[in-house]
Amino acid sequence: MPVKLAIVGVGKIARDQHLPVIAASPDFELAAAASRSTGVEGVKSFTSLAELLDACPEVEAVSLCTPPVGRAQDARLAISRGVHVLLEKPPAATLSEVDDLARRAQAAGVTLFASWHSRFAPAVPAAKAWLQGRTVRAARITWKEDVRVWHPGQEWIFAPGGMGVFDPGVNALSIVTEILPETFALRRGRLVFPSNRQAPIAAELAFEDARGAPIAAELDFLHTGDQRWDIEVETDGGRLVLSKGGSEMTVDGTAATAGAHGPHAEYAPLYAHFARLIAERRSDVDVAPFRHVADAFMIGERVEGPAFAF
Ligand code: NAP
Repeated sequence: MPVKLAIVGVGKIARDQHLPVIAASPDFELAAAASRSTGVEGVKSFTSLAELLDACPEVEAVSLCTPPVGRAQDARLAISRGVHVLLEKPPAATLSEVDDLARRAQAAGVTLFASWHSRFAPAVPAAKAWLQGRTVRAARITWKEDVRVWHPGQEWIFAPGGMGVFDPGVNALSIVTEILPETFALRRGRLVFPSNRQAPIAAELAFEDARGAPIAAELDFLHTGDQRWDIEVETDGGRLVLSKGGSEMTVDGTAATAGAHGPHAEYAPLYAHFARLIAERRSDVDVAPFRHVADAFMIGERVEGPAFAF
């Protein structure tokens, strides 16, 4: 029997990915939706998760697609009702919130999945396998996109807790924390905050892995032209390039095989993983990418840049 699922926060990612992937999934059936200002056609819709859970006791799982600030409150409510939870990335507004949710989910015996969609990109498993047993000499992350194209009018992204350029940047960090054979830590950072905003619009980060190899990251939210979501890794056994957000991979310039492509290449396996976690009564909560973001806010130099308007 498919798991009866509700979706909360019917915005861009809910419409682009969650709804079509759920509709095509043999594992889930969309039972209801909650959003303050909209609904999902043909499905019972409510303006809050509390109303939804009161009216729909059959709901067994929720996907929380709201912005990170406020998401933990919904997650706590769902867990308290014995409902499994999928958190969009980044999992919450703070590390402490995620920690609290993980404890509550464990105590309640429900699945908590802090999802990182980029880890399901087609070339990520192959990149991870190729890097195993190799020594990394240096790595470079280039994550440069145009916020006006990808997040038009999303004021929350520059509000406290919206994380600014780290909203996409954490996707890169979710990939490197998955594929690199060693852990790494931030040494220096430089964050550019628009004079009229509370979250950075660009960042330069210098990490070092456990063997001392440098890992540099350049994040930019004002990049026009060719959009860049690339990770380059120099190793003792060759050079790996993961491009297009983890969709494509080359080794020493030669294309390597990757998994299935397509518009839902990341979210279809992500939902299959959520179904497996529920069936096996397990949780999957890895805060490593989010911890690096917190570190950047803690030790990064803060620089003021020009005011920003969408
Ligand atoms: P979005 O288009 O702004 O949608 C979020 C929805 O949440 C809104 O439409 C809004 O619907 C609801 N919401 C509830 N509380 C809100 C608040 N305080 N402020 C604003 N909206 C609120 O954002 P999104 O792009 O879908 O991103 C949502 C989450 O998914 C983020 O964590 C983001 O990192 C992640 N994500 C986004 C993408 C992408 O391509 N955009 C990709 C992967 C993951 P109501 O007004 O109807 O309540």
